[in-house]
Amino acid sequence: SMLVDLGKGIVDAFGKLGTNLILDDKTIDAVIRDVTMALLKADVNASYVQKLRDEVKSQLDPKKIAEGANKRDLVRQAIIQSLIKLVDPGIPPFQPKKGKTNVVMFVGLQGSGKTTTVAKYARYYQRKGFKPALICADTFRAGAFEQLQQNATKIKVPFWGKKDETDPLVIAETGVNFMKQEKFDLIIVDTSGRHKQSADLLNEMEQVANTIKPDDIVLVMDSSIGQSAYDQAAAFRSKVKIGSVIITKLDGHAKGGGALAAVAATNSPITFLGDGEGFDALRVFNPSSFISTLIGAGDINALVDKIEGLNITKKAPDMITNLVGDKFCMKDMRSMFEMFEDIGPVSQMMEMIPGGMGRMYENLRQQTGGGSDEDVAGRMRKFVTILDSMTPKELAMTKPLPPERYPRLARGSGQPLGMVEYLMQSFKLFAKMGQQMKQIMPSGLSAEEMM
Ligand code: GDP
Repeated sequence: SMLVDLGKGIVDAFGKLGTNLILDDKTIDAVIRDVTMALLKADVNASYVQKLRDEVKSQLDPKKIAEGANKRDLVRQAIIQSLIKLVDPGIPPFQPKKGKTNVVMFVGLQGSGKTTTVAKYARYYQRKGFKPALICADTFRAGAFEQLQQNATKIKVPFWGKKDETDPLVIAETGVNFMKQEKFDLIIVDTSGRHKQSADLLNEMEQVANTIKPDDIVLVMDSSIGQSAYDQAAAFRSKVKIGSVIITKLDGHAKGGGALAAVAATNSPITFLGDGEGFDALRVFNPSSFISTLIGAGDINALVDKIEGLNITKKAPDMITNLVGDKFCMKDMRSMFEMFEDIGPVSQMMEMIPGGMGRMYENLRQQTGGGSDEDVAGRMRKFVTILDSMTPKELAMTKPLPPERYPRLARGSGQPLGMVEYLMQSFKLFAKMGQQMKQIMPSGLSAEEMM
């Protein structure tokens, strides 16, 4: 997917920072240029890319850099901070409040995934203990009423609409009032979408907003619309106060960057990402963890590129697939330790690959007792000995083994009990990283495709 490509592009650019003691301006420029290219390729609007570039440069102003500061880290941090800013307007998103009536209006173009997202949103808050109700104020599209009704039935959320009513204002107003009387605390109003932003649609949307005075207006945007995302978002913003943005279809092969960066046009936060047709395919969006997993995903790719040369993927074809696919087992961990061993001096490699993988190695090092690379390598060899004393059934396990088996493993491998505990901790660490990877990885895409 394009987002994974973007992550990889950024990590590749970071790779240019190298390990030389002296980091000259030419290198820094090259790194910024490569990050810029990666963003443009992902369809991020050129003016934002320019802004990001200026921002990174100003943060790296020699006058502002303290004596002795690690320039390499500064460059990395400046770029990461600017990327976060790109998807974060710095405004806390609307959160429905318990004990009050929250009215949320959904707007967006036809086909953006608005009606599906309305159902996902209702279900998300239903699980958080809210009593949601849906209102179909889409009088434009044939079948809109039936579609929302079907969705509402599937997720068991009450629904209001009038098939023969042609005035969306009447539906929205009577619907909201009725649901308020019925004490629903999250009233979600779906409005008409059109083929493209037409004056009619925008005026109607404005009128509905003025009539029901929603607590939040959510703009639903298809991630595949690329560069036009900016204009679209701006058009909606010109009429109503967009409070939140939800970006859909990130599971496809869309570039995504255009829609992500369009948040700047609305000056409103992205709250969720949609990544599938099912009603559970909605993920909470958090700018900094999104960027760090984006880079983490890039890390894995960079690492895979490196290990491809070592034929590890041939030796352990399922390891990465399992890692991101929730199927990571003890045997895969053994392959991973072998991989680390084949790669050689690990922390040197990690310095070339900042982000998720580096953090993971650092966690592994710290959580298993710290020390040098040689210490860590020694421990990994001991881990392999312990893994080799497991039964085939244990090796296939995708969870840490129960503690009552630790003494047997310790005896069988001739290792202290503490080493077995460290091994299980490391296993959890890898599994957690796999989960973080999965968050960014669109569903329905195989690990091979991802790479
Ligand atoms: P609306 O016209 O904006 O109300 O759009 P719909 O909710 O009817 O969605 C249009 C199509 O996009 C439907 O086929 C949905 O199943 C599909 N869709 C919506 N959100 C997603 C998503 O996040 N991922 C994928 N793959 N499909 C989605």
